[in-house]
This record gives sequence, C-alpha cells and structure tokens, in this order.
Amino acid sequence: SPLFAALKDQPSDSLLELIQLHGADPRTDKIDLGVGVYKDEQGHTPVMTAVKQAETILLNSQTSKSYLGTAGDMGFVEALIPVVFGEARRGDTALSGVQTPGGTGALRLAAELLNRARPGATVWVGTPTWINHFPLLEDAGLTIREYRYFDRNTQSVIFAGVRKALESAPPGDIILLHACCHNPTGADLSPEQWREVASLCAERSLLPLIDLAYQGLGQGLEADCSPMRDLLKHVPEALIAYSCNKNFALYRDRVGALFYQCGDEARRERLRGNLVNLARTLWSMPPDHGAAVVRLILSDAALARMWSDELDTMRRRVHSLRAALVAAHPGLGFLRWQNGLFSTLPLSPEEVLSLRTQHGIYMAASGRLNLAGLATAQVPVLAAALEPYF
Ligand code: PMP
Repeated sequence: SPLFAALKDQPSDSLLELIQLHGADPRTDKIDLGVGVYKDEQGHTPVMTAVKQAETILLNSQTSKSYLGTAGDMGFVEALIPVVFGEARRGDTALSGVQTPGGTGALRLAAELLNRARPGATVWVGTPTWINHFPLLEDAGLTIREYRYFDRNTQSVIFAGVRKALESAPPGDIILLHACCHNPTGADLSPEQWREVASLCAERSLLPLIDLAYQGLGQGLEADCSPMRDLLKHVPEALIAYSCNKNFALYRDRVGALFYQCGDEARRERLRGNLVNLARTLWSMPPDHGAAVVRLILSDAALARMWSDELDTMRRRVHSLRAALVAAHPGLGFLRWQNGLFSTLPLSPEEVLSLRTQHGIYMAASGRLNLAGLATAQVPVLAAALEPYF
C-alpha cells in the first residue's frame, strides 16, 4: 500500500482554528484573547522601533550572507548573557550557549541533547504547561512525568505538588521550569519557592531545564530573571531555552538561544560539541536576520535603551489591563498577582463557548486568555461578560 497511507490523522491546532473563527465573525465588537502574541491598544503586533532601526543598520552594513556556522551568531549569544543572567556573569566561562531557531528550537535541541545523554530520561512537567512541551520532549525520546502545578479554582501554584515531585525524582532526572510569566496560567513561583526548588535540585542532583520565553513581560527585565539567576548559583549544571520572539516582537524571524551552565571544562566542551552536532542534523544553521538585529540592539547603548523602554511600555500595558479588569470586577482579583500575557480562568469549555457565541469573546477552550488582546475600552465589556462566573 502507498507509504503515506500509514500516516494517521493529527488533531488540528485549536488556537489556529480560533483565529479562523474570529476572522470569520462579522461582529465589530468581538474580542480576541486567543493567540499568544502581544498586541497594542489597536490590536496590532507592531515591529518595535529599536528593531526597525537595527534592521536599517543591518541592511546598510551587511556585506555577505555566507554561512555563519551551526552555533549561529556567537556575538548575539554573548550579548544576551548579561541581559539574561546579569552583568556578573559576563565572561563567565561556566556559562555559554548556541543560537537556535526560537525558543522552540532551543527546547528541542535541549531535549535531543538530554536524550542523547540518557535515552528515555525522565522530565518532570508541572501541568498545565505550554501545550507544545509534551510533543517536543516526547518526540525527542524523553519520558514525561506529570504533576499538578496549578489549581484553577484557587488560581495559585500547588507548591506542595512541586515539592513532592522534586522529592520523588531520582538523581539525574530533569525538571522543567518556567522562568517567569508562566504559560498558560501566569502563576509563577514566589522567590521563596524558587529558593526551595533550587535547594532541592542541588540536594537531589536534578537538572533544571528552564524555559524563558517572556523576559521583561512580567515584572521587568531584571526581576523576571532574578529567581532563575539565584537558582543557577546553587546547581552545577542547567539548560536554559531562551526566546527573543516575544520581548523583541520578532516572532516570525525565529530568534532564540540554548544556554548551558556547566562548571567542568572538559564536560562543557563535550556538551557544546554535542549541541553543534545535533543542530547540524536538525536545522544545520539557525536563521541569521533576527539574531543579528538583537545583537545590534544590545551592543548599542542607545538602541538597547530604546528597546527596553518599548518593552516596558508593553509590560505596563498588560499590567494596567490586569489592574483595570480587577477594578471593574473584584472577583477577578487573582489577575493582579499573575504575570505576563496569560491567565487561565476556571471556566468550562461550555462556558468558554458561550462567551464566544453570546459576547464575541474568543479564548482557548482551556480558559486561557491573552490579556494583551484587550483594548482598554473593552475592559468593562469583558468584566461584565465574566460577571456570572466569578
Ligand atoms: N516557551 C513557551 C512557554 C512559549 O509560550 C513559547 C511560545 N508560545 C515558546 C517557548 C517558544 O516560542 P518561540 O519558538 O516562538 O521562540
């Protein structure tokens, strides 16, 4: 029989379906809280001014598009280190990285590396989590152990569950952590909880795999990374999958990096050799443009300032939407202590559907909403529509 006849149907992407449904909805007052990109008051996802300026510089100065190499733009990787890990770690040989196609590429490369180091190794994943984490890790061959991370009804982290997972994981297991702006719940670990996670990882020799896709969109560039930076002081080895696609709004340019911390020099060199070797068969080389733009921004004080100001404007808009919703409907108070673009409301799929049919409010069936999809003027509409549920 034809080879392709053996392929099985795959579930369609429900968020992409939601985009189509929203597009086809004729109501002019519809609200799109579905897909996870930042939007401004006008519902646009603009190119940042700092990015435009860096692109102009790049256009005028680039003289070759010859191959860069499998590790990508190392100037980009090095320019990110003080931003992500703090000034203190500039030039720290225990910390390095390679450029990857987005945070997704970084996660996949990490998964391939971990599976090469220990085939079928176990990754502890708190649920709910970014939907792509499961296939990403499993397709690389890793084994997933789930535990409940978030209680929808109390809207908070089930830290007893996190602790129990860490205490039952045997040495050498991997623990997946969201550095900040947890997707899909917005519920991050507190600094005290991070400290406890750090000591458990250290005591029990667990390897942190940290997903950092929203730096600067929670409490600010520094604050969003400070618990992770502390954790890295306590563990000898860790992997950090970084995305520039949200905080530089470069989404389609696929900008990211996989950083690794490893104090042992020989081991670190071997690790790098394996990353480069794996990347060679996955994508050979990451796309250059967006990473070059990020490098140019971060290596020019004025552009870097312009970028962090623009990012701060985005962050403050999401904050003020959270505050405005809570002011309009105190029953939504939990939105104030969650971070980033997302929160997950304790709504049933039927309730989510009814918000869509009755009010033209679009959100994922899980109850996840992207706060940035909201215009300030729509706050009272959303608050009123949610009134019966909270
Ligand atoms: N991690 C998380 C938690 C995410 O939400 C996303 C994007 N939705 C990513 C990683 C990867 O993003 P990208 O590949 O676009 O950099």
